[in-house]
Order: sequence, then structure tokens, then C-alpha cells
Amino acid sequence: MDFSFTEEQKKFRQEVRDFLEEEIRLGTFTPSVDVWMTGNSPEFSRKVAQKGWIGLALPKEYGGQGRSNVDRLILTEEMLRYGAPTACHWFADRQVGRSILAHGTEEQKKEFIPKIVRGEVFFAVGMSEPEAGSDLASLQTKAVEDGDYYVLNGQKVWTTGQFRNYIYLVARTDPEAPKHRGISEFIADLSLPGITVRPLVVITGEAEFNEVFFDDVRVPKNCLIGEKNRGFYQIIEQLDYERSGIERLMGNYPLFEALVQFTKETKLSGKPLSQEPLIRNKLAQLQIEFEVGRLLVYRVAMVMDGGRAPNWESAMSKAYTTEFEKRLANSATEILGPYGQLVDGSKYCPIRGLAVRSYLGSKGYSLQGGTTEILKNILATRGLGLPSK
Ligand SMILES: Cc1cc2nc3c(=O)[nH]c(=O)nc-3n(C[C@H](O)[C@H](O)[C@H](O)COP(=O)(O)OP(=O)(O)OC[C@H]3O[C@@H](n4cnc5c(N)ncnc54)[C@H](O)[C@@H]3O)c2cc1C
Repeated sequence: MDFSFTEEQKKFRQEVRDFLEEEIRLGTFTPSVDVWMTGNSPEFSRKVAQKGWIGLALPKEYGGQGRSNVDRLILTEEMLRYGAPTACHWFADRQVGRSILAHGTEEQKKEFIPKIVRGEVFFAVGMSEPEAGSDLASLQTKAVEDGDYYVLNGQKVWTTGQFRNYIYLVARTDPEAPKHRGISEFIADLSLPGITVRPLVVITGEAEFNEVFFDDVRVPKNCLIGEKNRGFYQIIEQLDYERSGIERLMGNYPLFEALVQFTKETKLSGKPLSQEPLIRNKLAQLQIEFEVGRLLVYRVAMVMDGGRAPNWESAMSKAYTTEFEKRLANSATEILGPYGQLVDGSKYCPIRGLAVRSYLGSKGYSLQGGTTEILKNILATRGLGLPSK
């Protein structure tokens, strides 16, 4: 297998780097961690759209660039390396556009995909509910037909994102059917009457995740995506895309880079920290794990370019890379010691408080988008062919 990048891909990577370096120079953003989830900047997303970089792998006929998933991976890898605020368009670019493409009507594709690509529509994903996380088929939000509308009632939780104007959600359309069969997917405009978005303040002190309440919300029937009551099978595919990406590996890359730099510049008893065997060992180990994770992520993109949704490959990649991210956050706090616990703003705080931000944020990595236990079950059954029980 040839692991090298083409000349065009190398040029493209450099083009993305040049753009991001210029944006940092202009003061558009300061590199941060978890930017794909919490770096919300509609203005920056629109700049990315103007470059033609949202929907890079979506077909040209709907406004995308029709490029490969490996090209998209190069783009997203650089966005994360530079810690750029990409959250507003991330979910639409990663999974919602693909779902509409796979299951939407021609009218829906023409309506939504060009708006995603132009950075006009920013999607939230409304799957999880208070009693339906890993066991998503237990969801209780209902969609009941009423003339030309579906009427939505229920609640979503952990809905990521600010500045989102649409939500891609799942709801129960047949309460009598077996639980995996009576579910459908919808698009809802978040400004519709009856929708309340309530931010959740999490352990990092940020409020980037939400509870979303639906109270007699009337969505037109043409907002149903795909086949009624077959939504669960569509979701499985969508989750494969959700778990596919580089964000699970590189969401904290700015911390890794800054940590290495810190150990080179900071002296202990007259010697740079980078000469301490224990610290060198930790950093080298992280680099080994990072390179392994990168291969797993590229493998997923290659599966997608081969024309199928990645399944156990995404599960394996996410299970591995989120554990890497946790180890990175742990090692950073160990290396920085008590000062590493200070948040940005304190004059004693090293590397802009990225370590404590990552450490606290990392607790959710192996939950969001499918827990590690669930992913290992997927790998065991679908990858290794082991019995499900
Ligand atoms: C930061 C963050 C952002 C998120 N963003 C979104 C979002 O944008 N949209 C959205 O819809 N959801 C989102 N989620 C929700 C996420 O998908 C759920 O948290 C996840 O699916 C787990 O569900 P749960 O929290 O209900 O935990 P549970 O499903 O209750 O799991 C609790 C524990 O039990 C274990 N467990 C459960 N079932 C099994 C089993 N069968 N076998 C072995 N172990 C099991 C789990 O592995 C876990 O350790 C987000 C979550 C977080 C933390």
C-alpha cells in the first residue's frame, strides 16, 4: 500500500497552512483545543466556505468540491493542528450533508447541501435524550402526523453547539413498532415556535452543549429525511461518519505542540525539562501513540474513498484515539505539575491553560459519539465476528 501523499495533496496542505497562519497573524483566532466542538465562530466558518472548504467531499452538483475523503482529512487535520474555530460547520460537513445526500429527496439535497457548503446553515445533531444514550433506540421524542406537518414533542440532551440554526434529529414515529423500527429522521429549523434551547454548563465552565426541548413543534412533512420508521438504520451509518474523523486524535494537538515547546524552554535545576528522562519518555510515548492513531484515521478515510461507510474501522479508530487524547491530557497535567491546574488568565498559568482545559474536557471524549465500551462491542461483533452475547 502506498502511504505517500500526491504532489497536489502536499500543495493543498500547504495552502491550508498558509491560510491559517495568515488568519492567526490577522488575529482572527488564537489556537485552542476542542475547536471542532467548542470553537464557535460563524464568521470564520464563512471564510472557510468562501475558500470552498466546507463540503470538500460532497458532489459538485450540490455545490461541493467532489474531492476525496483523504483530501478532506488533510484539510481537517490542518484546521485542528492550528486549533481553528471550526465548530459551527463541523457536524454539517462531517455527517449531516452526507446523510441528506444518502437519504434525502432531490428537493432536500438542492435545498440544504448548497446552504451547508456556503456556511449559511449550521447543524446541531439531536440524537441523545436523558434516557437514551448508548441505547439510542429507547428515545422518547415523538413525531405525530397532523395534516401537512409532523408535531414534535420531547427533549434532547448534550446537543453540541452555539449559533446553530438547524437541528438534524431523530424521533419516534410509530410507538407500537419494535423500538428499532418506529424511528425517523427529521430536519427542524431551530427558530420554529415551541423549540427551547437551554445551555448546559459543564465541568470546564463552558456552556457549549445544550438541552433542546420540543413543545408541539410543527415541522412540514417535507422535513422527514429518508424512509419513515427506517431512521434507526440511517442513524447507524451516520454514527459511522461521526466516529470517523481526525478530531478524536487531534482535538488537543495545540496542547501537545505547546507542551513539547514548554519542556524545551523551561529549566529545572538548570537543565531543560526536555532532558529529564521521565519527561522525554512520556513525550516520545505520546508521539508513538499519535502516529498509530493517525494511521487508523487515514485508514477510515480510505475505506470511505473505497465507496463504503466505515463501520468497525471507525469504531476502532475512535476507541483508540479518544484514549490517546485522555493520556495526552493526563501527561500534560503531570508534566506541568500544580501550575498546570491554573486556568487561562492567571499570570502563573503555563501554556494558556490548555492543559487543565483538556484534562477536564477529556472526561467526555470516550462518551460522546458512542462510548468506548459500545465501540469495542462493534469491533468484537462486526470486526472480529464474535457472537453478540
Ligand atoms: C461532550 C459531549 C457532547 C455530546 N454531543 C452530543 C450531540 O451533539 N448530540 C447528541 O445527540 N448527543 C451528544 N452527546 C451524547 C452522547 O452521544 C452520549 O453521552 C453517549 O451516547 C452515551 O450515552 P449516555 O451519556 O446516556 O451514557 P449511557 O448510555 O447511560 O452509558 C453509561 C455507561 O454505561 C456503559 N454502557 C451502556 N450500555 C452498555 C452496553 N450495552 N455494554 C457495555 N457498556 C455499556 C457506557 O459505556 C457508559 O460507560 C454528547 C455527549 C458528551 C459528553
